[in-house]
Amino acid sequence: MIQHKHLVAAPPRLQRMLLRLQPYSLTIVYRPGKDVPVADCLSRRPLGPPEHIPLDLQINFVQFAPDRLSQLKEETAKDAEFAALREVVVRGWPERRRDLPRHLQSYWAFRDELAVEDGLILKGERILIPKSMREYILSKLHESHQDIEKTRLRAKASVYWESINDDIEDMVKDCTVCQERKPSQP
Ligand SMILES: [Zn+2]
Repeated sequence: MIQHKHLVAAPPRLQRMLLRLQPYSLTIVYRPGKDVPVADCLSRRPLGPPEHIPLDLQINFVQFAPDRLSQLKEETAKDAEFAALREVVVRGWPERRRDLPRHLQSYWAFRDELAVEDGLILKGERILIPKSMREYILSKLHESHQDIEKTRLRAKASVYWESINDDIEDMVKDCTVCQERKPSQP
């Protein structure tokens, strides 16, 4: 359950809730959507305008120009897997992993870290990057040509996709700039 994980693993909205709940000792019980009675209109009524979450907070290390950010949102919307994932995150997860479509089953293990915010899918504070933008993000993560571990740390604080660690390794190993910088063999 999300409350047993480290706070930064939670999406920003949940983080705030968990912070508010910290003084209390409580047990959170999961109830599947079908068992939750339909809320009446008053309990659904928002208490004011939705809180604005500054995006800088979520994208700790990767700087997005505004047009890149809207591209990221567009590509997230276009990506078929992400569209299906977003649907599940918003509507609620099934009771069993095997009830998910196969291509979404890899998200099951960290389903309680996933959230949809402002057209993007988040895993804790990391933004899920659709396939079409992974190459661009990899180049941004590695723009200062740091080694594999440092590049992975940057990613860990900002962006996520399933094969990101392997992709970083492949990219750094193939990077011609890094190879030229290596001390040459005597
Ligand atoms: Zn490099």
